[in-house]
Amino acid sequence: MRISERIYLVGSGKHGNLMTHPMDCNVYLLDGGSELALIDAGSGIEPERIVASIERSGFAISKVNKLLLTHIHGDHGAGAYYFHSRYGLEVMAAAEAAPWLERGDMDKTSLNAAKHAGVYAEDFDYPACPVSVGIREGDRIKVGDLELGVVETPGHCRGHVSYLLDHNGTRSLFAGDVVFAGGKVVIQNIWDCFIQEYAESIAKLNALHIDSLFAGHGPFLLTEAWKHVGMAHGCFQRLEIPPNL
Ligand SMILES: [Zn+2]
Repeated sequence: MRISERIYLVGSGKHGNLMTHPMDCNVYLLDGGSELALIDAGSGIEPERIVASIERSGFAISKVNKLLLTHIHGDHGAGAYYFHSRYGLEVMAAAEAAPWLERGDMDKTSLNAAKHAGVYAEDFDYPACPVSVGIREGDRIKVGDLELGVVETPGHCRGHVSYLLDHNGTRSLFAGDVVFAGGKVVIQNIWDCFIQEYAESIAKLNALHIDSLFAGHGPFLLTEAWKHVGMAHGCFQRLEIPPNL
C-alpha cells in the first residue's frame, strides 16, 4: 500500500491494520528507484504474506536487496532470516545488536521473556541470521537515489536505531519502537529498557523536527509528526513517563 511518494506499507499486525500476521510490526518498503529496501522484517510467521503485499504494491521481491532493522525484537527481526536466506537481502542492524541476531539469542532479544509473558507460542524460535553491516550513529545508507541517516535511539531496548530520510523537502523518520503517534512509547519490563536512555533518545528526535513518522506499530503520520515527538519529549521533561502504546 503506497503511503507516500517513495514509501509503501507492506506488513502490519495487530497494532496496525492487520494486513499480514498479527505478530508483525509495521514493515515499510522504500523505493530508491534502482534499489529497494525493507525497513524491519516482521515476526517471520507467514512471511510470504509480506512478500505478497510487496508484489501487490507492484514490485518484484527479487528487486528488494536491503533489509534495515530498527531493532531485533521478535516482531521486527525474527523474519530477517527468511528474507536473507530466500531472497538474498543484505541485512543491516545496529552494531550492538548484530551478534545477538547472528546467534538468534533468545535472551538478548527478550524472546524468552516474551514467551514467559505469553506473547509468543512456546515453540517459537528466533532464527539466527547473518548481518552484513553493523551500523552506528551517523552512518549513511544508500538505497538507490535515496540516502538514510542512522540515529541511535536506545531506551526501548539496546541496539535500537532509527533511520532519517530527507527527500523533496520532507524529513521522515523510521522510528521502530521509540515513538508512536500521539507521543506514545513502549516501556517494558525487559533487561535492556532504560528510561533515561529513552528520554535522551526522544530529546534527540525532538531536535530533528521531523515531518513524517513511520513507526513500528500503529498509524503513520505524514505531516507535523514533530508535534507527536514533542508530546513524548514534554512528558520526559516533566519527569513523567509518556503513555505506553
Ligand atoms: Zn520492540
